[in-house]
Amino acid sequence: MSILLETKNLCAQYGKVLAVQNINLKVKSGQVVTVIGANGAGKSTLLNAIMGSLPVPGSANGEVVYQEHDISRLIVEDRVANGLCLVPEKRELFSSMPVEDNLLLGGFRRYRAREKNWRDTLDEVYELFPRLKERRMQNAGTLSGGERQMLAVGRALMGKPKVLMLDEPSLGLAPLVVREVFHTIMRLRENGVSILLVEQNARAALQVADYGYVLEMGEVRLEGNASELLHDPRVIESYLGFG
Ligand code: ATP
Repeated sequence: MSILLETKNLCAQYGKVLAVQNINLKVKSGQVVTVIGANGAGKSTLLNAIMGSLPVPGSANGEVVYQEHDISRLIVEDRVANGLCLVPEKRELFSSMPVEDNLLLGGFRRYRAREKNWRDTLDEVYELFPRLKERRMQNAGTLSGGERQMLAVGRALMGKPKVLMLDEPSLGLAPLVVREVFHTIMRLRENGVSILLVEQNARAALQVADYGYVLEMGEVRLEGNASELLHDPRVIESYLGFG
């Protein structure tokens, strides 16, 4: 399996405070890779450093290698154009615009690049999330938490990413909806999207992932096949409890 995305000694800081350090992770083509860790471990910072979207440009160093090219110096837009996409923790939808317009905006880069058939992806998104189709004229700001999460993922898919990075997709959702979210992640993988999933819900994340990294205080403390991590006493004690 080829490596699609890799970080080499990736570090990121806010002012003088180092939030993540020397991160070496790999996402192979077709894999779901998860990064688990407690609040403040540096998970969101890591995704933003990969995406090039830290609040202060240039506050990351080390390498981000994507399809064998060092993309560390590319601006966010160029990383997106190459096939990387991040669904941020805060979803960042256009709340006063209808669902469908939010989705179409997700395809705007492809439209501008005169990509043929870019609009067909809308049907694929509606097939994945029939609820969004039902609500396509409704303003995004009036959606439920679960529907907002579907919309954020749907909008990202409109850009046809090769690697989709999801920051805490289950955050704040009811257990039944959380199950739907993880089911969607499995379907996306079946459709050929590689996924880098950041989660506090370690059990659910490890159940859908192929490989996992445990982040503690900005550093990778453990890594391994997800099925092994699920049975690792250190992971069970700190992240899985007895559930
Ligand atoms: P959570 O699960 O709570 O979102 P996280 O693992 O995603 O946590 P980060 O949000 O990456 O963690 O935060 C890592 C560290 O960096 C924390 O100590 C946090 O306070 C700090 N940090 C995050 N964003 C900023 C910022 N914009 N300015 C300064 N410090 C920040």
